[in-house]
Amino acid sequence: MARIDVPEDSPFGPDHLPYGVCAPRAGERGGARVCTRLGDVVVDLSLALDDPDFANASLDAFLARGVRHWRDTRDRLRALVDGAIPDAAVHPLAEMDSLLPIRIGDYVDFYASIDHATNLGLLFRPDSEPLLPNWRYLPVGYHGRAGTVVVSGTDIRRPRGQRRTDSGAVDFGPSRRLDIEAELGFVIGVGSALGTSIATGEFADHVFGVALVDDWSARDIQAWEYQPLGPFLGKSFATSMAAWITPLSALESARIPLPDQHPEPLPYLRETENWGLDIAISVSWNGTLVSTPPYARMYWSPAQMLAHLTVNGAATRTGDLYASGTVSGPDPSERGSFIELSWGGSAPIALNGEQRTFLEDGDEVVITATAPGTGGSRIGLGEVRGRVLPAHER
Ligand code: CA
Repeated sequence: MARIDVPEDSPFGPDHLPYGVCAPRAGERGGARVCTRLGDVVVDLSLALDDPDFANASLDAFLARGVRHWRDTRDRLRALVDGAIPDAAVHPLAEMDSLLPIRIGDYVDFYASIDHATNLGLLFRPDSEPLLPNWRYLPVGYHGRAGTVVVSGTDIRRPRGQRRTDSGAVDFGPSRRLDIEAELGFVIGVGSALGTSIATGEFADHVFGVALVDDWSARDIQAWEYQPLGPFLGKSFATSMAAWITPLSALESARIPLPDQHPEPLPYLRETENWGLDIAISVSWNGTLVSTPPYARMYWSPAQMLAHLTVNGAATRTGDLYASGTVSGPDPSERGSFIELSWGGSAPIALNGEQRTFLEDGDEVVITATAPGTGGSRIGLGEVRGRVLPAHER
């Protein structure tokens, strides 16, 4: 039996206990197990908790069992890590590969930051009001491509597509304006039947946890294609999510009141206790910290986004993912995308002695975040990391 000593300042201490799927490096996919992470070790939960739901390459069986089971399991896990864990269940993180932890049937991306929506409005439609008339009435979103959500660490191939050049000509080639979007994703544990909707007050029965998301975006492809139906190929080539899902129960101390909403939302978007999350995000580009977006500023709450996503009766399923949209704050140092940081490419960023605007081949972006944990600690969400590969020749 092993006792795992985690340094007190570790973002993966006993107040966190996120869930992920790991397999021995270079091992068979069949060796994948649901694990938790403590410091720099992972614990195989199928062995440690003797639960066959965890002898799987995804969290879905566990998620489908519902909120009471999630809480009971967290209690058992807390007791386990305070004591001794069977040796066979403990592995160094460095010897494991992390896999995509859920089977994502549907992926929705919102646009819930007022600062990001304002900045993008100014950049894409400089001659009109930055916020479109619907923005304060509903959480604007679109359905993304679930099949191209990849786990942190996956390389990102530069997409090719149609681009309109400054002269107005249309050509084809690798994106010249490849960008990131720092977002927070929400993982649905228990779905909802077709024809029903999830009220804001039912959020906790459906949403299991959160994970950082990087919504890679090709701005030149996006700018040409997006009207009138919204993002398509400029977004669907890749979306990265963290390998570790932080349960909402680990974020109880991070709950804060939502910023004021005007006008008052329609009744289906109201909450008895209107709440957001005090999560501090950091974006590093080739090892240099370039932005610190504050999730606390988000205009629409996680419960409002889910209520809106299902208000028409759209079904949801275990493993569905919805993301907040780019997190940006009012200060230039808080912008969660490079199109905002470089103001559409017109204000290059000093990066390791170079002047940079969008991503070049070989660049690596790492998004991390911390939040108040229960018991006065600070927990760190699992990072989302990706490196840009050159476009395919054909
Ligand atoms: Ca996005």
